[in-house]
Amino acid sequence: MTQRKVRVRFAPSPTGALHIGGVRTALYNYLFAKQNGGDLILRIEDTDSQRFVPGAEAYIIEALTWLGIKFDEGVNFGGEYGPYRQSERKAIYKEYVDQLLNDGHAYIAFDTPAELDAKRQEIANFQYDASTRLQMRNSLTLSAEETKALIDAGHQYVVRVKIEPNEDIHVNDIIRGEVVINSSILDDKVLYKSADQLPTYHLANIVDDHLMEVTHVIRGEEWLPSAPLHVLLYRYFGWTETMPQFAHLALLLKPEGNGKLSKRDGDRLGFPVFPLEWHDPKTGDISSGYRESGYLPEAVVNFLALLGWNPGNDQEMMSMEELINYFDLTRCSKAGAKFDYEKGKWFNHQYIQKKDNKEVAALFMPILVNHGVKADPGYVEKVVGMMKDRVSFIKDLWEVCAFFFVAPTEYDEKTTKKRWKADSAAQLAELIEVLRTREPFDIEGTEEEVKAWIESKGYHLGNIMNATRLALVGEGKGPHIFDITEALGKEESIRRIQRAIEVLK
Ligand code: GLU
Repeated sequence: MTQRKVRVRFAPSPTGALHIGGVRTALYNYLFAKQNGGDLILRIEDTDSQRFVPGAEAYIIEALTWLGIKFDEGVNFGGEYGPYRQSERKAIYKEYVDQLLNDGHAYIAFDTPAELDAKRQEIANFQYDASTRLQMRNSLTLSAEETKALIDAGHQYVVRVKIEPNEDIHVNDIIRGEVVINSSILDDKVLYKSADQLPTYHLANIVDDHLMEVTHVIRGEEWLPSAPLHVLLYRYFGWTETMPQFAHLALLLKPEGNGKLSKRDGDRLGFPVFPLEWHDPKTGDISSGYRESGYLPEAVVNFLALLGWNPGNDQEMMSMEELINYFDLTRCSKAGAKFDYEKGKWFNHQYIQKKDNKEVAALFMPILVNHGVKADPGYVEKVVGMMKDRVSFIKDLWEVCAFFFVAPTEYDEKTTKKRWKADSAAQLAELIEVLRTREPFDIEGTEEEVKAWIESKGYHLGNIMNATRLALVGEGKGPHIFDITEALGKEESIRRIQRAIEVLK
């Protein structure tokens, strides 16, 4: 058999915001495709009109674009295998439903919801399958004429797959190995509904994977129970030769490890579970997103890549290029990965440190503008270089370096009580004279000269430094004093000290 070109797909249903677990699925598909010189397809599985949410598709595309997950074809990206939105492929599916009906692998069922309910009352753990189907109203129990008459009279029906009982179905999974399921536990799933003339997920998914020449199905563990039916459908269609290989990814778990990560965990513990902020069109609720919370896309990608996979050594920081090189589906964990949110923050911190100051400054600029600060980009770059190691988020830069842009107008009470001594005003007045003649106003030179002056006067170094910090910053925090004076410049440094003397006396 000739090697087929690797083709994988991300196939979300547009039922709301894309959950962070879905983002990981998309990422793993992308890494696998690129590593193998293959294609990544975006297919929108919108056959469930009841659950369709407007805006969800655009949201998915925007989120994955933000993260640098690029598609080769699909909705919004074009390609030879379209249309890529399942709602636009109705005619294609009808043909395959008919094929299964003609071959006796499916049948037509007319049972109304009320009839199905009645059966559920009658039979405990009722399942529509080989043991019950002959008690129901379907094309197996009705004559061909009766069936046709009902359809012609406009009765709604569904098409169900006819599963033969008592057969072991083997699913080969790259991550889980061979999974064997007995067909008797499967039900005769609905494949098609006349009401909306649309196939269900199972049929559309298989037909499209086949027609789009998908070679590997990498998806969440929640789809593993569907895999035996999918294997059967491949067989019924005669496509077993080219059936994709399966890889079912383990769940993302709550930070505590007990159960599946949900939106409620995010609300409860204060972290986003969506890539971008999501405005629910039905409820009007707004859910926070990684982007709006100040995460860098490369940090989110790196963090997610390691939830359920590792490179086999302790390397943690990996660019997209490196991830593409090292990723290995066979090394994906079978066990769920705890969602360690603190680790996400750690990655963001690391990526801020790694970014050059110019880029960090550019990200900080709009925040400065929001605070009414118009600063020179070169100055912002310098400040950011000094302060970025103190933050995990760009937005937190304001909190730690506002004083570089706005002179203090008030002085922290506690610090003042502790640091502003009786002789501080007089000493700082002298310091101003030292600073005034200092040239150049550099870090080391100024420090040396000021310290020499303090020593010659027999003053207390700590007291003067503390009082100066209070004058420059307004409180007791901040970097090295002479880094601050150098950045502020001579005039501004003197102005701030002068003002503190006036206000604090
Ligand atoms: N539409 C399914 C989903 O929303 C696709 C599952 C699959 O990849 O087969 O995840």
